[in-house]
Amino acid sequence: QGYYTRRGGVGESGDFITSPEISQVFGELIGIWYISEWMAMGKPTTFQLVELGPGRGTLTEDILRVFKQLASVLSKCDVSVHLVEVSPKLSEIQAVMLTGGKVQPSPEDESAYMKGISKTGIPIFWYRDIQDVPPGYSFYLAHEFFDALPIHKFQRTEKGWREVLVDIDPEVPDQLRFVLSPSRTPATQNFIQPEETRDHVEVCPEAGVIVQRLASRIEKDGGAALVADYGHDGTKTDTFRGFRNHKLHDVLSAPGTADLTADVDFSYLRKMAQGKTATLGPIKQREFLKNMGIDLRLQVLLQNSGDTATREQLLHSYDMLMNPEKMGDCFNFFALLPHHRLVHPDKKDKPESKSPLPPVAGFNELLLK
Ligand code: SAH
Repeated sequence: QGYYTRRGGVGESGDFITSPEISQVFGELIGIWYISEWMAMGKPTTFQLVELGPGRGTLTEDILRVFKQLASVLSKCDVSVHLVEVSPKLSEIQAVMLTGGKVQPSPEDESAYMKGISKTGIPIFWYRDIQDVPPGYSFYLAHEFFDALPIHKFQRTEKGWREVLVDIDPEVPDQLRFVLSPSRTPATQNFIQPEETRDHVEVCPEAGVIVQRLASRIEKDGGAALVADYGHDGTKTDTFRGFRNHKLHDVLSAPGTADLTADVDFSYLRKMAQGKTATLGPIKQREFLKNMGIDLRLQVLLQNSGDTATREQLLHSYDMLMNPEKMGDCFNFFALLPHHRLVHPDKKDKPESKSPLPPVAGFNELLLK
């Protein structure tokens, strides 16, 4: 009965618009990020690209186009795509976008519920849960995924922490309202960090569980995860809000018909990685994209486009992604990487005998050799 399983309006005609829907350059630069990490990690012979919450499938489509353009670089690598998606409607849209609709339901005994082959010839599988994705060397992607997961809200009071709950308003029919729990709830005992200094906090335990899983998988099988979302590093308090038809919408009215979202607390995600992997970021979207070479890419596209309308569109979408007052500052990039990607395991013993590790693109300037 959730919003995504019934409505899920990503895109211009829906409830909210996302970066890959605004500009192809966004997905292309993320595609380059994976190739650059794949090279830095010694070009393993196989990897899975695992996307959580792929929306309309546009981001994967743009990444796969980059993989195709760099086919000579990836020629000896066996790539497969694994999409984690709960929405039947969005998985259909993804299937059309990525395979032209040529998909088949998987047999009951397989962990994927659907499979197909991308237009560029890469096998694609769909799952409802990250745990269903087979183990193996994987690059994970979560763009505007964690903000869609449910949160708990807590308020500090004179009597200690109380949970903010949703109640039926006894005075007004069919109206919901927020109330404070009269006493501590199991969530107040379990989800608030002992060192918390804020008076109001939002915690997304489901995001914590998923990050723990990603960190364990990367520690065991290798790879990396790139998380991009609007969020903060443990400083914001009350960010829960709704969007319907691109307008702010009261979160308690007409439940199930609006996109509900809360800023991602990256400090919480970092904690939930539990030291199993290293973490980088959060870094602002405009810094990440600049490091990835967005300015050069824009120049090339502008030079190649003959008509004024396309050029204006390119400049407008660049401004949407990069302007600090639009998406440039409030969106952040965050990564999970194996420890050995940032520090040589035996650095302490023989520091001089090792060549320096290549910097991680996006968080530093991109250096492709
Ligand atoms: N990444 C896309 C879409 C973001 S919208 C983009 O940037 O355009 C959030 C996506 O997460 C949707 O595809 C939604 O159906 C999916 N989703 C929401 N809750 C989920 C859950 N619990 N498990 C898997 N997917 C989920």
